[in-house]
Amino acid sequence: MTKKVLVLGGGVAGLTVAHECREAGAEVIICEKDARWGGKVLAYRLGADSVAPGAPVEHSLRTFHSSYFSLFETMRRIPLGAGTPFDAITPVRALTLIDGADVSRMARVDTDLRQPPHRRARALWRAMGAFGVPWRDSLSWFGTIGAYILSGKTRRRRIAARRVDDLLDFDRRSEAFRTFILSLVDIIFGAKRDASAAVVVDMFARLALVRLGTVDPLRFMTNTANGPVNECFIDPWVTHLKAMGVEMREGAAAAEVEWEGSGETHAPIAVRLSDGERIEADAFVFAVSPAAMASLLPEFYAKSVLPEMRRTWSAGAQFFCRRFPETLGPRDSFSLVVGSAWSIIYLIETPSLWRNVAMPDEIEGVLSVTVSSFDTPGVLYGKTFWQCSWEEAQNEILAQIGFADSGAIVGAHLDTHLRRIRSEEYLEGSDGIYHGWEISPEYDGHVWVFATPLWIFSPESGVDGIVAKTSIPRLFVAGEFSATSTKQPTMEKANQAGKLCAAAVLAELGLPYDRRRVERPLSGRLARWLYP
Ligand SMILES: Cc1cc2nc3c(=O)[nH]c(=O)nc-3n(C[C@H](O)[C@H](O)[C@H](O)COP(=O)(O)OP(=O)(O)OC[C@H]3O[C@@H](n4cnc5c(N)ncnc54)[C@H](O)[C@@H]3O)c2cc1C
Repeated sequence: MTKKVLVLGGGVAGLTVAHECREAGAEVIICEKDARWGGKVLAYRLGADSVAPGAPVEHSLRTFHSSYFSLFETMRRIPLGAGTPFDAITPVRALTLIDGADVSRMARVDTDLRQPPHRRARALWRAMGAFGVPWRDSLSWFGTIGAYILSGKTRRRRIAARRVDDLLDFDRRSEAFRTFILSLVDIIFGAKRDASAAVVVDMFARLALVRLGTVDPLRFMTNTANGPVNECFIDPWVTHLKAMGVEMREGAAAAEVEWEGSGETHAPIAVRLSDGERIEADAFVFAVSPAAMASLLPEFYAKSVLPEMRRTWSAGAQFFCRRFPETLGPRDSFSLVVGSAWSIIYLIETPSLWRNVAMPDEIEGVLSVTVSSFDTPGVLYGKTFWQCSWEEAQNEILAQIGFADSGAIVGAHLDTHLRRIRSEEYLEGSDGIYHGWEISPEYDGHVWVFATPLWIFSPESGVDGIVAKTSIPRLFVAGEFSATSTKQPTMEKANQAGKLCAAAVLAELGLPYDRRRVERPLSGRLARWLYP
């Protein structure tokens, strides 16, 4: 008899589990509470009543790092025109580091991987110097990365159990060093000084080793997609899954789990959706956030098994522009505003980057911005993000990146997962729409509510994260918080987690799975030494 797998959550992790399990012959139903697929990889076109009808918007700009391998393996199995979504990956030839205190100060890091690793290290060394980091601090930093690369599993575990500021000895380092390192990791994935040190050091180790880490690396270290990521990746993926026979239910939130047994023998038998429908299955996969999981799982399990992760925020905003001032730097590069109060990164998306994307009239392109610090006072009003209205937040973002030409902006759009509402509106619940959303401190009678926090490893959660096969029979988990070889919350990690989860589900259901799909293509001793 065909085995039935129920996947809850239609982000990258959930879609990956559905893909792998269906290919292996299981019957798969996947339920996503939102109307759109992709979770945090949300992108779509604005409607007719918007500030810029037809303009593409994303959750944020999208980076595909060349150290990714599992996500690319999945992308290459999805049909898109005559090729696959992998063909849509397009290089970002340089990273521009801009000084948040003086936006005319810039350092450029070339991302071409044909250069030997020491050229990348030299570029980083120079950039640190340009941002005032004393050479002694830079040297100790390079030593930390080198030691991490050469260390084995036990030492890496010890590093993972320490905080960033503790491992890097922040008390003895210069202010410039602290700002430089913390800014970069905050800007890139919202990690703060209390995150597990492994998250931060591992990221730089990957930058150093990227060419050795994969068999056929992309030519450039950082890449983006040549169009809105739903059009290049998520929508074709959903079409493919449907064609494979996956039953896809959007707008279908899991509301309650039915259990049999108690204590140690507790096991799910069915999930009830918010519309009352009851779905039984042989395996249940929770590919939702730890917060959503905690509300669906028995307390004893949620408390004992979900490790203490750091929850952080990163949100995107798009500015639709008639023109772009030269001060914003080159168009083909990610600009990281080091030391910016709100930890900002931006990318200018014009038809030269987004091929085949016709922008609405009078718009030359989209300035896609990600903010990762919400509790720090800004430079314009002295308010934190949480204290600003959306209009104030727009002005603040533009001030922090030195965009003074307000006449160039046609309109702006904020991440749909982030909204400012009156406090009463949240409490009244407005039809439960904000159920499970995070809430900011109240200011001026308003709060910001946010649906999609990022989950970062903490010293308490260490390097492992949540393993796919839980202690509860038939219950599996997958997401950016899972135990995989990647330490940072990214699409790659969510994809690796989905494959590891599928492997565990299929093993339990007695179905075959090719584990090579989730193994780093560089096989053998070198890979195991570099990534134990
Ligand atoms: C602003 C921002 C920028 C980012 N940029 C990048 C980047 O450039 N490159 C990169 O690699 N990564 C990036 N990331 C990280 C990456 O997007 C995430 O790590 C990854 O998408 C997480 O996937 P996931 O499937 O684990 O979780 P999610 O995408 O959060 O998916 C979980 C899904 O579960 C659904 N759900 C929740 N509750 C229920 C329920 N009760 N029933 C049914 N469904 C439910 C949610 O609606 C959601 O769709 C970024 C993240 C953010 C926030």
